[in-house]
Amino acid sequence: MAGTLSFAPDDRCNAFITTCDAAPYGDGKLSGVAVAVKDNISTCGIQTTCGSRILAGYVPPYDAHVVSLLRGEGAAIVGKTNMDEFGMGTTTETSGYGPTLNPVDQTRVPGGSSGGSAAAVAAGLVPMALGTDTGGSIRCPAAFCGIVGLKPTYGRVSRYGLVAYANSLEQIGPMARSVGEVSRLMEVISSYDSRDSTSFDRPYTHQPSADIESLRIGLPQEYFGEGVDPRVAETVRSAIGRLEDLGAETVPCAIPSMAYALAAYYVICTSEASSNLARFDGVRYGPPAPTQKQWHEAFQEVRGEHFGKEVRRRIMLGTFALSAGYYGKYYGKAQVARRNVRQDFERVLGEVDVIAGPTMPTVAFRLGEKSDPLSMYLSDILTVPANLAGVPAISVPCGTVDGLPVGLQLIGRHFAEEQIIDAAYAYE
Ligand code: GLN
Repeated sequence: MAGTLSFAPDDRCNAFITTCDAAPYGDGKLSGVAVAVKDNISTCGIQTTCGSRILAGYVPPYDAHVVSLLRGEGAAIVGKTNMDEFGMGTTTETSGYGPTLNPVDQTRVPGGSSGGSAAAVAAGLVPMALGTDTGGSIRCPAAFCGIVGLKPTYGRVSRYGLVAYANSLEQIGPMARSVGEVSRLMEVISSYDSRDSTSFDRPYTHQPSADIESLRIGLPQEYFGEGVDPRVAETVRSAIGRLEDLGAETVPCAIPSMAYALAAYYVICTSEASSNLARFDGVRYGPPAPTQKQWHEAFQEVRGEHFGKEVRRRIMLGTFALSAGYYGKYYGKAQVARRNVRQDFERVLGEVDVIAGPTMPTVAFRLGEKSDPLSMYLSDILTVPANLAGVPAISVPCGTVDGLPVGLQLIGRHFAEEQIIDAAYAYE
């Protein structure tokens, strides 16, 4: 039954940048279900800012493929969620619209960059939301806010209409309070799309099952070692113990290329970002550039005034890494490291069905705690490898440390979302 849904949330955590008070919905698998959409996913007629001041007031004239699929199944798009500017961050504090607070503890960050989507779900404002994950941005906030989040296999969900940050790494994915709901949303958003040249025709249709008898789980030593809070590691180990009780078998394994994964990720993502963000110049996108100035001065003014500090830093880093003379030294080497990560994952996932470990090395940070960018980058160490390898990964809540949620991460083979979803479902 079609209609409209009125939406006036008590948004004390600043989860939304834009809300739609009368959101239309139709018939279908998600008829009348309120869905929040991260603000870097284009929504026809609804402001889409990517968490950046440079896009304030920008209203896309078309829907992203995933948004058309949601609308086609009757969902009500009730709002656009807060995020780190263009997805660059792990806390949602780099947003141009103020930070989002973690609903579990409002002195803490919700994680990022899809912090608004996670907070909206965790606070009970919506049952499900879309996030995007370039280097952990679905799984990190899911872990910090105590909800479920899935980064699909690269190519399983169309990126058409997603404002690109680092297109070789990112995927749109579902976030919800239960594995069943994540699976249901994944069924709706995964379909072949000729408008995304990396789209595969491998739609996900699956009924989660808790039967994990003889599932082989690999435990990489790197996921439990240095830099991981021992209490987080312990909580995750006991969650894995429960999977063993349910019939799974665990095997120790190693991913030696993890040593280079973070450095490779930050070279690749900043390089891609420096090229993708060139279009925000006040001519193609962004507030009009002053016409009485030389073009380079006009671009400089628009970009200097409207991009935040983290975005400017990454554009500079990426431009440097790609510049003539340095290309081979940085970008070329990062691509080699990326290939090694992918090969390591393929090797290990040839021996086991899923890899398990913590999603994040710690619980949610205090607001302002990660003011040093390097220490923020370091916290992505356990999430970025799945993006480099293109494999699917899910975060499911598995307990608390000091009352703050901990996420269990399960990583699977390419296009084997079904297996990690079943393992997460059995745990839940
Ligand atoms: N922390 C990662 C970064 O800043 C998260 C990126 C993402 O997944 N959007 O690049």
